[in-house]
Amino acid sequence: MRLERVELFVLRLPLKRAYETSGARETHMTRVLCRVESEGAVGWGESVAGESPWYSGETPATVLYALEEFILPELFKADLADATDVSRTLGWIREHRMAKATVEMAVWDLFAKRANVPLAKLLGGTRDRILCGVAIGIQPSVEALLDTIRRELEGGYLRVKLKIKPGLEVEIAEATRKAFGDLPFMLDANSAYTLADVDLFKRIDPTRPMMIEQPLAYDDLIDHAALGRAIATPICLDESIHSADDARKAIAIGATKIVNIKAGRVGGLASAKRVHDVCADQGVPVWCGGMLEMGIGRAHNVHLASLPNFRLPGDVSASARYFETEIIGEPFTVERDGTMRVPKGPGIGVTVLEERIRKLAVQRKELRPGRA
Ligand code: MG
Repeated sequence: MRLERVELFVLRLPLKRAYETSGARETHMTRVLCRVESEGAVGWGESVAGESPWYSGETPATVLYALEEFILPELFKADLADATDVSRTLGWIREHRMAKATVEMAVWDLFAKRANVPLAKLLGGTRDRILCGVAIGIQPSVEALLDTIRRELEGGYLRVKLKIKPGLEVEIAEATRKAFGDLPFMLDANSAYTLADVDLFKRIDPTRPMMIEQPLAYDDLIDHAALGRAIATPICLDESIHSADDARKAIAIGATKIVNIKAGRVGGLASAKRVHDVCADQGVPVWCGGMLEMGIGRAHNVHLASLPNFRLPGDVSASARYFETEIIGEPFTVERDGTMRVPKGPGIGVTVLEERIRKLAVQRKELRPGRA
């Protein structure tokens, strides 16, 4: 299969509620949407790079740059036998994983549509429902946080993840455990701490969070292994894991007991599946992270999370939490039992509202072989 035409759309949509982490306070999401076309079939992908480079070095502008300058020209030359050929073809291009994932995921959707099967099936998914948790940003006060948790639990979610930042971590953990006796909750630090903070984490241990996500530097494994030996709360890595090799090394040295998988962070679905498989071989559970995706990225996450080792509830939540404006026809909802159905139609299994995307796009580019 050869790509015949690729369109890139840049969308900027306001969030219903501002989202604050230890790294940034976000009010809008800017996303590059990718539409690939071949022999009458179409596939869609969505970038997860943030407006500012606080989570990773990539932004919508670097995603566009890498796609136009290097990634698409390389892909237009390739004859793709299946979707895993994309990551092989792009293997020589270093970094730019979110840019690669944007088109790679669109090609998976296209191949699944050509085969007339759900993306989950092509990926090797075994679940028809995925386990849903919810990520809650830093709130103006502990009371506001507890109210937000209460509201989200009414929505059916199986666990909550609370963003923390220095000065608020112990208070958040203690107040949450006190207010919600048995609630499975976890904490996400987004790299805001160092090993010098080990006493803070020891104070969190008695509140029994399920795990603490990426407490130390975004590129670290060694210090996480040291912290893991010092505290009872299991560590889950997010930012530090870019590949199956990273996951293998992190597990081998005891830097992580659980892995958060985000296809965008690891360069696409083929890489995400390899991370999943390495973790499964080592008996390490994974869950599907979220980057406040619009509908297309959310759909991809739902299919990915249908793989068997996604044993813990992830951050894939109902579409309606995030945006007023939907770009798909069947927004995702959470059932009363805290699960979400994996779409059964071909590819990502949702209707992409193409006319709306064309209207909303603040930028559009069209690339073809030879003219890329
Ligand atoms: Mg995280």
